[in-house]
Amino acid sequence: MINCPKCSSEVLVETPALGNIPLDVCPACSGIWFEKGELEALLRQSQGGGQADLGLIDPKPEGHDCPACKAKMSRGGLVNPLLLVDKCQVCEGVWLDARELALVKKLLGLSGGESGVNVARPAAVPAAPEPRDPKLILIKIVAAGCAIAGLVGVSYQMYLYFSPAEAVSRAPSIGRAVLSVLLFAGGVLALNWGKEDRWR
Ligand SMILES: [Zn+2]
Ligand SMILES: [Zn+2]
Repeated sequence: MINCPKCSSEVLVETPALGNIPLDVCPACSGIWFEKGELEALLRQSQGGGQADLGLIDPKPEGHDCPACKAKMSRGGLVNPLLLVDKCQVCEGVWLDARELALVKKLLGLSGGESGVNVARPAAVPAAPEPRDPKLILIKIVAAGCAIAGLVGVSYQMYLYFSPAEAVSRAPSIGRAVLSVLLFAGGVLALNWGKEDRWR
């Protein structure tokens, strides 16, 4: 995801609309981000294109931040000292404002091909519901079983404990009571653990 160096909240949209090169275009200002070599490749597609020198003329460290590597880009002339553009000296990417590609082509005497492109912001894609994981369902069933068994166990031990000794056939067992409590607590814990947000 690359943000526009000028409209920082805009995310550039990759489009092959220009010369089948996957360029990143800002949906708001229609500026174009060329990775290293992409501008050269695009210009080569235009008619009459020779090898153009795309090094910056009189670069000054006054550019925007590079959308790719965040370094401060240099601002300097492209082809002509008056056409000021941003170029990253680190990754050698070039940022052209909406109309600058047309100007570059004009200066180079190139014709043909599109000089600009408009892109639409991608529609917000609603998060697809997580597919139900059969393993997760199994864990939930086992956890629920444990919780219920634990609860029944605790209840039974309490029933034995609070009943008069002669009314019941078995003596209450601390061990079984503790085991039931653990089973119940473990089951409840596992059930909550199985909640989807905790598994992400
Ligand atoms: Zn922009
Ligand atoms: Zn860079």
